[in-house]
Amino acid sequence: MTRSPFLVDVSDLLGRDVPARSVVIEVVVDWALEMSRILADPTLVANLSIGPVPGGILVRGEVCYAVEHACRRCLIDFVDDGCSPVAGLFETDPGEDAYPIDGTTIDLESFLRDETLLGLPLLPICKESCEGVVTTPEMGLNTDSPGDSDATGSPFAVLRDLLPPED
Ligand SMILES: [Zn+2]
Repeated sequence: MTRSPFLVDVSDLLGRDVPARSVVIEVVVDWALEMSRILADPTLVANLSIGPVPGGILVRGEVCYAVEHACRRCLIDFVDDGCSPVAGLFETDPGEDAYPIDGTTIDLESFLRDETLLGLPLLPICKESCEGVVTTPEMGLNTDSPGDSDATGSPFAVLRDLLPPED
């Protein structure tokens, strides 16, 4: 039986006056935003400190990951890595900003997903100097030099039209 790597038993902490303990979670995730996707390799690593607070459990720490973004300017995919600070409250009777405690277990998945995705740039850019989508001049359609076109007759006809009319 596989147990979710995000589940942490907090029976040793809940309602007790004990120091926080550290928990490390290394896990393959499939989390994404519109322009960004957390990569499976290397795995996401969360270094957490889990400790009791009145009414619940406080989880703090840092999550590190590799992420593939589509550049907002040039639309080319690029890979970046980063770490985001995370903090969340778990409560038996969760308030608006808290995650639930299920018996003596906390499930860190939605907490870590929320915090990780929140830490990503909203408008990823491959590099500060990115020029955006390069619009290639349509050279291929106009490679004929004006001089060798049969359709328009003599190129001097054009020049003649540009000259001021003679009196
Ligand atoms: Zn770019």
